[in-house]
This record gives sequence, structure tokens and C-alpha cells, in this order.
Amino acid sequence: MTRCLDCGAERETDQCPTCGLTSAAAEVMLRRRLVRRTALFLVGAIIFVPASQVFPPLEEDGILIFVGVLFFLVLGLGLWMVNRANHGREIEVIKRVYFGLLPVPWILAALLFINGKFDAAPPRPETVSVVGKFSMPGFLRTERLVVTSWRQGRAVERLQVSRDDYGRFRPGDSVIVEVQSGVVGIPWVYAVYRP
Ligand SMILES: [Zn+2]
Repeated sequence: MTRCLDCGAERETDQCPTCGLTSAAAEVMLRRRLVRRTALFLVGAIIFVPASQVFPPLEEDGILIFVGVLFFLVLGLGLWMVNRANHGREIEVIKRVYFGLLPVPWILAALLFINGKFDAAPPRPETVSVVGKFSMPGFLRTERLVVTSWRQGRAVERLQVSRDDYGRFRPGDSVIVEVQSGVVGIPWVYAVYRP
């Protein structure tokens, strides 16, 4: 018993009884869909980084790590699936998981955008002090201020700041962070400035 590579229906003859494709034609269709959707995923993962900084979530580092892990998971899954398909092995379950994961960066980016864009509540100012800072060069260039946390059970917060602000603030400085709760409940940073 094999399954049609295109629609996933079980078939015993070369031609699929559900979609009418032969096994060779179904393979071509799957390959085409794979290339197109994977390209969309890659674009989504790449634009996710700048898109997530428009209304920067407080947990930005955690979210970026999640997207990074997802990125490699999806690529690994894709390679595994292609390899199995080449050996004529069953790929239906992997295919569903794979295609299900592809829109995640887009959904997450849309969520972060809606979270900040429609947040009409006034920002809540929190006075904190800078305890450190770090910058990461390269393609995903980031500048972070490490400040004392105002949230319970946390020692520090890592705030994304512009390069100018990164240069201006020094450890020991007092800064005001304006925090928003977010429409979908993801706290984000409206502004960081000197008192
Ligand atoms: Zn079919």
C-alpha cells in the first residue's frame, strides 16, 4: 500500500483514484509545491527579524531563538522528507507536519504586528537602571541594554535599543522604559529614554 505523493490518498495502481495523477506526475507536483512553499517560509523567516522590531516584544531574544530553532527544524524535516521520498518510503505524516510549520514565521510576525499596532492603552513607565549592555555584529545586528527588571521573579530585562541610545547609555544610568501590555498579551517596549 502506497500513498499518492500529491493528495495523500491510498492507491494500489500507478494512477491515483482521488486526484487522477500518476505517481511520476504526483512527484512533480509535490516537488513544485515544496519549492514554492519552502521559498515562502525562508522569506518569512528572514523578514521576521526586522518585522519583530517594529513593536519590539520584551521577550524578543526568546522569540528569536524559537524562530531560529524552527528554521533548522523545518530544513532538517524537509531534507528527511525528500530523502525518504527518493527511497520510495512513506512520507505522509512528515509532509503534513512540514507544510503545517511553514506559515509559522508569517503568523508570528502578524501576531507581533497586531499586538503593537492596535495597542491603544497608554504606556506604563518603569524606572530601571542599566547593569550592562552587549551588541552582536553581523547580519542580525543587535544592540541590547541589560537593565534591572520590574517584573516579579526576574533579575534583568534585555531591551533592544537604537545604535545611538546604545552609545549614550552606560552601566549605572537610570532609564525609563515605557512598556505596553499588547493587544494579544505579549508585552512590548514603546520607548527607552533618560529621566
Ligand atoms: Zn492523488
